[in-house]
Amino acid sequence: MANCLICGGGDVKTIKTKVSGFLTERMFSGVEKKTDLIHCKTCGFAYYSLRPAAAELANFYKGYRDSFYQKQRQKHDIWYTAEMNAAIGKTPVEIQNRRVNLERIIKRHLRAREIKTVLDYGGDKGQHIPDIFAAAQKFVYDLSGVAPVKGVKSLSAAELEHKKFDFVMCSHMLEHAPDPKREISSVIKHLAPDAALYVELPFDSPFSPCRWTDRVRFVIKNPAQGLHFAWRRFLNIKKESGAFCPMHEHINYFTPASAAKLLQEQGLAIIYKDSSNIDFGWIKSKVISVIARVK
Ligand SMILES: [Zn+2]
Repeated sequence: MANCLICGGGDVKTIKTKVSGFLTERMFSGVEKKTDLIHCKTCGFAYYSLRPAAAELANFYKGYRDSFYQKQRQKHDIWYTAEMNAAIGKTPVEIQNRRVNLERIIKRHLRAREIKTVLDYGGDKGQHIPDIFAAAQKFVYDLSGVAPVKGVKSLSAAELEHKKFDFVMCSHMLEHAPDPKREISSVIKHLAPDAALYVELPFDSPFSPCRWTDRVRFVIKNPAQGLHFAWRRFLNIKKESGAFCPMHEHINYFTPASAAKLLQEQGLAIIYKDSSNIDFGWIKSKVISVIARVK
């Protein structure tokens, strides 16, 4: 019996499932694989027992979300259109609403004026760094090597190596990580004494009790978009021949409690943990936010 990857607890439920068609093709070179979906009753974390190796991750993330990725994915996930691919992380509505959400949390829980240096780790162009840090020095570290937005400096791995910051943010990254503990420890080492860490994750666990009620509410509020999604999902579920929640690129499903537990295990003190509803423009969804501080 497996122990939870985050809290180490042994009270887990295991569901037999498989790798989605898209991941099979792109990550595992077409070799079909079975996997277990493991759900921890103690902290709420859920994950697939199959953990991708470095070479498999490299296959998957090379050219991530480029036009070939989109075409390859839509072959399996027929609702994954070019428009949706272009919108994820990029639309002004999503950027603005995520920034406003983070700013609201920071105002309540941190002294923003004392924060002089900010790093968005894995933060694309740095477009998600909120306005509240207008006076701070802002940096982004991202493997994609894209040019940063105005006012943000991009750092290479070598430039980042020994640097520490007053505020480090790490958004929508840990749900992809085969080893979330190792991943977050490489972020935490960039926290200055007394610095704060912000972690944001999708709240998309198949075991979340509000998942179906949220969906129904979403369809009622947005009938056209909701029915469109439901229909496409329905077609896709049929295509995946009924396996429960096949493994996709989110290989971890966090809850606010398990995200906080991950940071506590790394020796940080939790200041805030909760989830918020965010309008991403292309979908309305829930995100988990955790703020932790160096003890
Ligand atoms: Zn657990």
